Amino acid sequence: MIPRLGLRDARRALDAGAFSVDEFWLAQTERIARLDPQLHCYLHRPADTAAPLPTDAVLGGLPFALKDNMNLAGTPTTCASRILEGYVSPYDATAAARLVAAGGRYLGKTNMDEFAMGSSCEHSAAGPTRNPWDLERSPGGSSGGAAAAVAADLAPFALGSDTGGSIRQPAAFCGVVGVKPSYGRVSRHGLVAFASSLDQIGPLTKNVEDAARVLELIMGHDPADATTLRAPVPSLLPETERGVAGLRLGLPDGLDALPMDATVRAAWLDAAAALEREGARRVRVELPSLGQAVAIYALVANAEASSNLARFDGIRYGRRAAADDLETMLTRSRGRGFGAEVKRRILLGTFALASGYYEDYYLRAQRWRARLAEEFAAAFAACDAILLPTAPTPAFRLGEKLDDPLDMYLSDLFTLPASLAGLPAASVPTALAGGLPLGMQVVTRALDEPMLIRVAAALERCFPFAALRRDAVDRALGETS
Ligand code: GLN
Repeated sequence: MIPRLGLRDARRALDAGAFSVDEFWLAQTERIARLDPQLHCYLHRPADTAAPLPTDAVLGGLPFALKDNMNLAGTPTTCASRILEGYVSPYDATAAARLVAAGGRYLGKTNMDEFAMGSSCEHSAAGPTRNPWDLERSPGGSSGGAAAAVAADLAPFALGSDTGGSIRQPAAFCGVVGVKPSYGRVSRHGLVAFASSLDQIGPLTKNVEDAARVLELIMGHDPADATTLRAPVPSLLPETERGVAGLRLGLPDGLDALPMDATVRAAWLDAAAALEREGARRVRVELPSLGQAVAIYALVANAEASSNLARFDGIRYGRRAAADDLETMLTRSRGRGFGAEVKRRILLGTFALASGYYEDYYLRAQRWRARLAEEFAAAFAACDAILLPTAPTPAFRLGEKLDDPLDMYLSDLFTLPASLAGLPAASVPTALAGGLPLGMQVVTRALDEPMLIRVAAALERCFPFAALRRDAVDRALGETS
């Protein structure tokens, strides 16, 4: 069936003349129309009237989905927030523009936690996306709509954004591949800012090879984003075949002290053993500050968010509430426009930056952040890649953590460290727990996306997952073919 195909396989089939790119589009949009009412992955779909596209470019006219915090001229960008209701992108995010330039076609904007703040997709003003493995469960977040769409074959691939795990954790919850590149690898131009020192755009795909292909297209310096690096863009596809023989695989000590399900711990050790059988050598590494990541992130990310979200004031940005004076207008616009989680973070972030508290909170968190980065650097003197679980549990039930924000924040425990240290990290599905997928996370040195893809591809070969995902998702969705 056509929409099952990822990028590589769809491209091959197109080249072989198995179907035309218009037939792909039709089959894809037909599946979305049939199944998305159950899942709610998409917040916006374009009219099916786009002009025919060149088929010789890398993407050959194949479609992609975009998380709803990335601009694409003429499409709505709402960040799943009421405050951006009716906002239409005035220009393209660089990453999206690069996909279009490579022959990609816009398939729609996907659901997310409001302003990317969350781990469950439940903080969306439009209501949650459901996990295609079990409709009562969360797809993860904040890129939950993108992950669920790729997992349910409602998109060949998607772009998400990751500030503290928002690509990797939903990828793990939905049984697909998700990559957060090194900080500075992919332009943030046109991505609505959450925490600018952490935000990165990256792919959600059906396999590691597809992730490598998308990364090759979107990485690289952008004059419109001063934080993008000038480092040359490496080619990644050849890395998928290289294997891990002779590589040193780091397993951090002391992980047992952190909250994680027994099934996750077992899957982590299984993944390490599988890579050892492929010829990797296992080494112990120390990341003593790993357990501080949630606290560090809460201060740094909220502080940056409180500053970034100040622009939504009903004047320049954001829907304006009617009022007789300026202060009432500001208070009403922000009070009505933002949801509870976003308000919570703005308040906490403002507090952490307030004079008298700044040194004790924000500055202290920055020092811990630097320490964590130094610990990673020391660990990478002894190993080539670090293996961690992506999330401490499989997908939780919708509603399960909604009344307990701290418990929700803990689900980012293993993804936050690489974000804080600016390192590239990938999640690959490797195991099932109670019929739900688990993801394992590979972390490598800054700018070492080649090693990241190499190890992720080896992991994928040890644990073939695509057929499992298709069967489980079709069963959950009541599909019979
Ligand atoms: N789940 C984390 C948070 O709630 C990370 C979100 C993200 O990466 N955008 O902030």
